[in-house]
Amino acid sequence: MALIDTHCHLDQPPLFDNIEKVIKQSVESDIEGIIIPSVSPENINKVIRVSQRFDMCFLALGYHPFYAEQVTVEDLKKLSLLLIEHDAVAVGEIGLDKFSDKNQLSIQEKVYKNQLDIADNLELPIIVHARGMIDHITKHIRERKIKGGIIHAFNGSFQQAEHLIKLGFKLGFGGVITYERAKHIRSLAKNLPLESIVLETDAPDMNPSWLESMLPNEPAQLKKISQIFCDLRGLEIREVASILKRNTIEALPKLGKLCT
Ligand SMILES: [Zn+2]
Repeated sequence: MALIDTHCHLDQPPLFDNIEKVIKQSVESDIEGIIIPSVSPENINKVIRVSQRFDMCFLALGYHPFYAEQVTVEDLKKLSLLLIEHDAVAVGEIGLDKFSDKNQLSIQEKVYKNQLDIADNLELPIIVHARGMIDHITKHIRERKIKGGIIHAFNGSFQQAEHLIKLGFKLGFGGVITYERAKHIRSLAKNLPLESIVLETDAPDMNPSWLESMLPNEPAQLKKISQIFCDLRGLEIREVASILKRNTIEALPKLGKLCT
């Protein structure tokens, strides 16, 4: 069995400071691949270095909405060049986050649209942060010919999910599905078409229910998260793991090299 953590910030201190151990524990927990997205002009080089250090790590490059105010025209040019130079699997983490002030939202939207144009030009998929903003996210995708990708930590309606699936996207679920009180997300994970789902940890954040808040989340937790996902759907993990892998490769075709 082999699992892919489709979203993990391995460059962040709680994980990076013990990175050899984190990688070893991932391998021991049947993790075959880890996608590491960058978030800011500041961490982009570190993310590249981490992905070069471990064969199981794959690179996505982009600027997260929280850092949109820092992003300059130069940073956007640099992003295009780095995406090509390092053969990144996607443009990400990009997107919009409702929980910021209005001024920030207009800057986020500008930076998001610029990065969609980059993905469109380079014919790359995208990895998207869409908290509270799914309709806006989808509208801008529709206006271009984006090659699908992953809507990470999906928390929209079934109707919004359907629109995104039709546009070629997979929806990412992680530690939140391990909480019984997360009824809506659990219902999405249980009932959306299996072919439209990928799993992620979003480590070091989004702790599953069994981790104390003092401990950082890590990719090795994906094994137990995947088991909870299978329990929700009444399916066997072995069977589901190969479907999830296929889904991930459909979303991020450059991961096809995992099969060779
Ligand atoms: Zn993230």
